[in-house]
Amino acid sequence: MATFKAIRIDKADKGTTAALTQFDEAELMDGDVTVAVEWSTVNYKDGLAVTGKSPVVRRFPMIAGVDFAGTVLESSHPGWKAGDKVVSTGWGLSETHLGAYAQKARVKGDWLVRLPEGMTARQAMAIGTAGFTAMLSVMALEKHGLTPNNGPVVVTGAAGGVGSVAVATLSKLGFHVIASTGRAAEADYLRGLGAAEVIDRNELSAPGKPLAKERWAGGIDSVGSTTLANLLSMTKYGGAIAACGLAGGMDLPSSVAPFILRGVCLLGIDSVMCPLTPRKAAWARIAKDVDHAKLAEMTTEIGLDEVIGAAPKILAGQLRGRTVVKIS
Ligand code: NDP
Repeated sequence: MATFKAIRIDKADKGTTAALTQFDEAELMDGDVTVAVEWSTVNYKDGLAVTGKSPVVRRFPMIAGVDFAGTVLESSHPGWKAGDKVVSTGWGLSETHLGAYAQKARVKGDWLVRLPEGMTARQAMAIGTAGFTAMLSVMALEKHGLTPNNGPVVVTGAAGGVGSVAVATLSKLGFHVIASTGRAAEADYLRGLGAAEVIDRNELSAPGKPLAKERWAGGIDSVGSTTLANLLSMTKYGGAIAACGLAGGMDLPSSVAPFILRGVCLLGIDSVMCPLTPRKAAWARIAKDVDHAKLAEMTTEIGLDEVIGAAPKILAGQLRGRTVVKIS
């Protein structure tokens, strides 16, 4: 029986269990491309799936892991052949389709993008879903018309994965970046990534007024709840906030005031089902606009055997920047 190493999630009497085991190759799901996975990563959703804290996994047994980069082993898809270097993020891996914390993955060829020229598989996973989401958010702000001339931009959850890539990218594009963090000890790290100002996230987390003093022209929010409500109430006339996360809560206790009195826009960002055309465009921008030295600075490497230990840490907001997982 052919097997490969994988982090397997099973249903238990109470909740779920996660273990590094040998997975039977015959249990791989349908797909027209089989990939030798080389690198993966730890995203917030991976933390939820591995700990079972939220019902992310909807099929058992499951292999956890949302993202992978690797080399095609076999393909019956016209776009891919053995030896091609590919990247996959989202598409329900670790939710409804067997995921990425494994030496092998079988997926639909339509889900894959080519590893960008000049980028290694490890660097692509240092980006991963979190960095891809940060870039989708930046592109949404640009589409809204935001430029550095409009004023400062704010990034919440700044020392996390989405936040770190957002800070570095916006700063490289010439924006004055205000980084909001709960970790004062990471102020120098955030300045190193390009933040012009670092503020305490407590300034934004308490319930505020429907309209407050205008502080920024735009922002990227991975926190949600009262933080997002305050971001909106502090956005300048005509500005926009890209909302991509819920690290602080899923609710949005806001009012219509910023929208109808200041023309502020709330831009929703989803990376999971993002169609192929904007997906490829975002990866092209990542290849062009992400500073590799800064990406290296925000990246920590762990082995597959350390993923189960890392999962509760990302949910507790204790992981800094991005974490890559060496698979083979
Ligand atoms: P991380 O855990 O790396 O980053 C989240 C950061 O948010 C933490 O580092 C911390 O930053 C801050 N934070 C954590 N808890 C709280 C809290 N209770 N109140 C305020 N701030 C808090 O996760 P990711 O960067 O991987 O993901 C961030 C969010 O974005 C998650 O909610 C995730 O589900 C979502 N997401 C959504 C995607 C989409 O497609 N829409 C794709 C990817 C992620 P600090 O210490 O600096 O304050």
